[in-house]
Amino acid sequence: MALSLPEALAKLPRHPLLYSHPSPIHPLPALTSYLNNTPSTPSSKPTPQIRLFAKREDQSSLLACSGNKYRKLEYIVPDILSPQPLYSSYPNNTPHPNPTTQPTAKPTTLVTEGAVQSNHTIQVSSLANHLNLTSLVLLHKGTGGGLTAAHDKTSFLRTGNPQIAHLLGADVRVLEPGSTNGGQIDTVEPVLAELRAAGKTPYWIPSGASLHPLGGVGYARCAFEIAAQEKQLGARFDYIFVACGSGSTVGGLIAGFKMLERMESSSPPQKGNNKPPRKIIGIINSPTKPQTWHEERVLRFARQAGTLIGLEDAAQAITLEEDVHLDGRFAGAAYGVLDEDTKAAMEIAARKEALILDPVYTGKVLRGVMEWVEGGELVGDWEGRVGVAGDGDGEGPLNALFIHTGGQAALAAYADIE
Ligand SMILES: *Cc1c(COP(=O)(O)O)cnc(C)c1O
Repeated sequence: MALSLPEALAKLPRHPLLYSHPSPIHPLPALTSYLNNTPSTPSSKPTPQIRLFAKREDQSSLLACSGNKYRKLEYIVPDILSPQPLYSSYPNNTPHPNPTTQPTAKPTTLVTEGAVQSNHTIQVSSLANHLNLTSLVLLHKGTGGGLTAAHDKTSFLRTGNPQIAHLLGADVRVLEPGSTNGGQIDTVEPVLAELRAAGKTPYWIPSGASLHPLGGVGYARCAFEIAAQEKQLGARFDYIFVACGSGSTVGGLIAGFKMLERMESSSPPQKGNNKPPRKIIGIINSPTKPQTWHEERVLRFARQAGTLIGLEDAAQAITLEEDVHLDGRFAGAAYGVLDEDTKAAMEIAARKEALILDPVYTGKVLRGVMEWVEGGELVGDWEGRVGVAGDGDGEGPLNALFIHTGGQAALAAYADIE
């Protein structure tokens, strides 16, 4: 599918890791009628007010355990493969102060970190294999509450994602609580030094790839992919729900849609162009940090991605008030802990749509979608924005897109949670 990308975005180097076709978007008919409380026979009335769709980032790549990190990594690989990478440094991927004196060193080893059941680290290890590099993965026992909540801790440490990391051949280091990312003791630097002493050249990829300067570009591009799919489907997504963890997925989408809508508004009017902007809602999945912490980061990632894709005045164009909508109500007790309501949402998705969600991110997102739809908040929000009921064109239902970012491989580790 040819995407009409802004020039600056089209020029950024990208190494394809996803299928050449877009990840599928499909309707969720059973969930739609369930949440709108209408029978599911096609001829039934009344028309649902909100039609639900899913975008399947869990089916976007042929690499192991497809999920949202591959889309981000597509824009990082060209730097990884460069003989003189710009953004390989720990901790902030800041470019070398003087590129001309920067030593030439082609990376040999991708180094990253995450929680015990991190999906991101699996995608980095798969990428390493795909590029014929090696990977070293730091798993922090103390990140989130998954390990603490698990009855069978041995199983939590061995099944799900860690099992896959071993299968992929990653050098997996499991670190004790207190060594967490952002904690007092830096556990990364000694590992990098160890690699260098062994003659290797590490390339550091931060948690979720979000702090990497190129981390938001993949999802900015995804906005253009979604727009092309909207045309095929004949449906514009008035609301888009996605998980907010490290933040560059939602940040990238915000930047991409801002640019896209600017391009749409300067082209001849089409059906739907007179609608309010698509609203992107990030569902926070961890209560550890305050919502303002996430908002500040998402805003920063969105502006950074915006600048890279050619949004000229990104710092003015993207604002907290207008563009960054995060919802922290569904984070539950802790990162990585499956709560009753999330489990119920996962069961509904599985039983109504045969859609398997993950316990850490997408289960919480669907729970949020259900609350927004069933509780009438979504319709209320829309009416508040357009001033009238309906879809703003005076016809048809509202369309909401749920982005499935992957993560099902962690399910095995949650077998003992009831
Ligand atoms: C990493 C991850 C997310 C969160 O994406 P961020 O860009 O870190 O906010 C959501 N869902 C799944 C399954 C993930 O692995």
